[in-house]
Amino acid sequence: MQNKYNLVNVVWEFTLDCNLNCIHCGSSAGRKRGDELTTSEAEKLCHDLKKTGCLGITLMGGEPLLRKDFWHIAALIGNLDMELTVITNGTVYDQETFSKLRSLNPRTVAVSLDASKPELHDQIRNRKGAFDKTCDFMNIALKEGLPVSVITTVHKMNLMELPAIRDLLLGRNVAWQIQIAGSEGRRFPKELLLDEEDFYSVGMFIASTRKKYPVKQMPVIGADDLGFNSMMLNNISLAPEWTGCHAGISVLGIQSNGNIKGCLSMTDIAIEGNVRSMSVYDIWNSDTAFSYSRAFDVSDTGENCRNCIHLKKCKGGCNEMSLMKTGRLHNDPYCFYAIEKKLFSEELKDPLTRIRLGLKRRLNAITAKHRQKRLSDMFMGYRGQ
Ligand code: SF4
Ligand code: SF4
Repeated sequence: MQNKYNLVNVVWEFTLDCNLNCIHCGSSAGRKRGDELTTSEAEKLCHDLKKTGCLGITLMGGEPLLRKDFWHIAALIGNLDMELTVITNGTVYDQETFSKLRSLNPRTVAVSLDASKPELHDQIRNRKGAFDKTCDFMNIALKEGLPVSVITTVHKMNLMELPAIRDLLLGRNVAWQIQIAGSEGRRFPKELLLDEEDFYSVGMFIASTRKKYPVKQMPVIGADDLGFNSMMLNNISLAPEWTGCHAGISVLGIQSNGNIKGCLSMTDIAIEGNVRSMSVYDIWNSDTAFSYSRAFDVSDTGENCRNCIHLKKCKGGCNEMSLMKTGRLHNDPYCFYAIEKKLFSEELKDPLTRIRLGLKRRLNAITAKHRQKRLSDMFMGYRGQ
């Protein structure tokens, strides 16, 4: 029987095969898994996802364009009337790639760009020439009228690059998503993780960019792993407000061997089953699946979030970040609200300051509505005038 949860988007690691060797890659991609789904299994999965009510599928990797059946499965997703998003490193293409991508009518084609300086991007991606190839991909895709997004993953090596990447993207009709590197990948040195102040500075950067530039010129958002209930910063995410981790609520992750998780970014403790032994329809509609999200109780929370006034709605932030930093769910220390309480504890004792911040927040929520709609359009691939 179908449950009350609507599956809005599925992120599918189409293959773990990758031609790059990026230091921050959370799934340590490079070689494909030995037991990746076959083409016919991938076809069945698409049909099952449709039956489950899935609205959109994001194909990513590894590098999804390395799989020979990419075009076939991507077309099937469209034929089944689900929206397609493609995330690529932008280095695997030929002359025909762009017209073929256009014929798929994707919601967006996202490329990864981690620096404005070629040598730094190449160092992070472990491949000389990667920057030039990716920039060429972006330029051709834009010329061909594809809706292009850029994803930047931030750590200590490229934190200071954000303003220069912004300059590179300004006014180019490119939607920009900024996310934080986690340390799940084998190649990532832990000392490159952002500390709390670095993390907060990324939030300040996005908030100030959104204040300074109109959406049309610079549509920028922070990903799910960046934010939560700030008292000081204007909203930086795509959603008007943070309503907790959506893993297993409206989103789903699929590994290339058919393992199902609420979110691909979470470690393997979040695996709920495998499509070879149980259909995705049955996993999604199981009464016991994704219990950390669906049956969340405030008593499940760790000490970072335990007495927080936002806990019921927030459910302890991003579960990926929480697991990575604390080894448990619902305990995310990378949280604007918590950091502000720590950094500005004296200022926040002043009742007038609290009233002023409360009013500012409400005013921003009213004036942000129009901006939010335009941002949403850009990230959904609508690039009208
Ligand atoms: S302290 Fe935890 S529950 Fe509170 S806003 Fe931050 S992440 Fe959410
Ligand atoms: S674990 Fe984090 S990135 Fe994944 S769905 Fe939850 S909030 Fe989003």
